[in-house]
Amino acid sequence: MELDARGFTDGTTLDTDLCIVGAGPAGLVLSAELVDAQCDVLVLESGSARSGPEILALNDGDLSGDDYNGVGRTRHRGVGGTSALWNSVVGGRTAAKYAPLDPGDFEERPGYDHSGWPFGIAELREDYARAQRICGLGQFAYDAATWTSAGHEPWAASGPALVSRVYQGGTRAALVEPLRASIARATNVRLCTHATAVAMRPDAANRRIVELSIATPGGPRWSVRAKRVVLAAGAVENARMLLLAGDGSAVPGNGSGWVGCGFMEHPRDRALVLRPHASGVYAQSSFYDQRKAADGTWLIGRLALSDEVLASGRVLNASGTLIPRLGSAIRRAREVIPGFAARWMPTEAHGWSSRRNPARVFDGFTVLLNVEQSPHAENRVTLSARRDSLGVPLPSLHWRWRADDHERLKRLRAIVATELAAIGEVTIDVESRPDPNANHHAGTTRMHDDPAHGVTDRDGRVHGTENLYIAGASTFPTAGFANPVLTIVALAVRLARHLRSEC
Ligand SMILES: Cc1cc2nc3c(=O)[nH]c(=O)nc-3n(C[C@H](O)[C@H](O)[C@H](O)COP(=O)(O)OP(=O)(O)OC[C@H]3O[C@@H](n4cnc5c(N)ncnc54)[C@H](O)[C@@H]3O)c2cc1C
Repeated sequence: MELDARGFTDGTTLDTDLCIVGAGPAGLVLSAELVDAQCDVLVLESGSARSGPEILALNDGDLSGDDYNGVGRTRHRGVGGTSALWNSVVGGRTAAKYAPLDPGDFEERPGYDHSGWPFGIAELREDYARAQRICGLGQFAYDAATWTSAGHEPWAASGPALVSRVYQGGTRAALVEPLRASIARATNVRLCTHATAVAMRPDAANRRIVELSIATPGGPRWSVRAKRVVLAAGAVENARMLLLAGDGSAVPGNGSGWVGCGFMEHPRDRALVLRPHASGVYAQSSFYDQRKAADGTWLIGRLALSDEVLASGRVLNASGTLIPRLGSAIRRAREVIPGFAARWMPTEAHGWSSRRNPARVFDGFTVLLNVEQSPHAENRVTLSARRDSLGVPLPSLHWRWRADDHERLKRLRAIVATELAAIGEVTIDVESRPDPNANHHAGTTRMHDDPAHGVTDRDGRVHGTENLYIAGASTFPTAGFANPVLTIVALAVRLARHLRSEC
């Protein structure tokens, strides 16, 4: 059932068994997984299906460190959360790229500080399989062998450090619409829009959250009393909410000092250019172009690190995508010929492998590396001195691309260049810095079994509290290279099972 908080009167109090803050992918999946559970669920969503500017302005915040898009442009408030900003396309519809974390992402790596999850990928495998169905994807298989077919074979020529794998593509509608429909039909789940949680009040012992304060710009102020609370508001807001709850008392879960720390992005590196030795390489690379498999699954082939290279800890995990480069004459022409005519000229978009005479259009590939960022306490969310329109301190993000990560990236570039030498000439722009703006926020409430090293336990429960949980990428101790939503959804399925068992 859906409610709109703008119709509430000041001072209203709602009681519930479980309050979930945020209706992005994490909050929607968690609440849909609890439909028909023996507990009442109230989901608070700051925005609505069409959030106005006064709601979107709540995403404002400060930024320091390196040049970065910041916290405003990289997030959305509304039912479906930041998925409203997705910019991939499959079958002409707004979509996301999906991949699971690699097995090696869960393990401790030598010389890699703070690596390792509390559990290995085996513990998440069934939840990943369920996440595939929830996201409207194909089978839980990302290896090349499953998706190789006649005319779509991975390169045999690259060396042993690289293997071929795939991304799957899924539309926003396939994820969000069934979840909304299931919640709308549910009798035990209420989704309340225009409801921004502005404070959480702990009890005197600071072990339980007893009340949340809720507000709407220009609207009522009211409260929620919940037996259990889950923050599913994205990596910036989850940390902000904990920091706000610490106003006047200890910050929940901050025995380790990690609340807000360890913010991670997935920088995109464009330093490598591959110029094929033969023009036939474009057609022979169709595995790496976007395509639809026989069972309807959308795929993009990619280059991945072998397990051994990843386990060495000497490089960052990464994924390489081939982006064909328009030849310089076409690039110049597109720049000088305005809009209309340029529309009829070739682009580097999907479908490049089936072009006739590709060598006349393209002069090679940029090997786009989507790169892991290691967790570091320096990259963190704190509270700003500025306040939003509801009177709440804004988040302040400090983000830097650190020298140690850049060294690991340089090693990675060298490995990829060596491996691809059999296919073409590879050049490296050694001065190039990666672009941080993948908009994948992670890591501000990291999960660790030991409260001295993390904010939540393996179930997402905030250390030192009895009834406060966190869902979403803020719990990732490390974030690999993989686009986060598949893992966010798998963890939400896992958390829902845990919460259901306690209903
Ligand atoms: C341009 C772009 C492209 C992307 N592409 C991909 C991709 O291809 N694949 C992929 O895996 N990921 C992609 N992502 C990242 C992905 O969208 C996010 O990782 C994902 O949406 C995070 O889910 P979430 O539910 O944790 O948080 P969000 O989606 O951010 O949702 C959080 C929700 O909580 C609400 N909220 C916040 N604070 C409060 C509060 N105090 N009270 C009540 N409600 C609150 C917000 O309004 C929001 O609706 C992309 C992101 C962007 C910006």
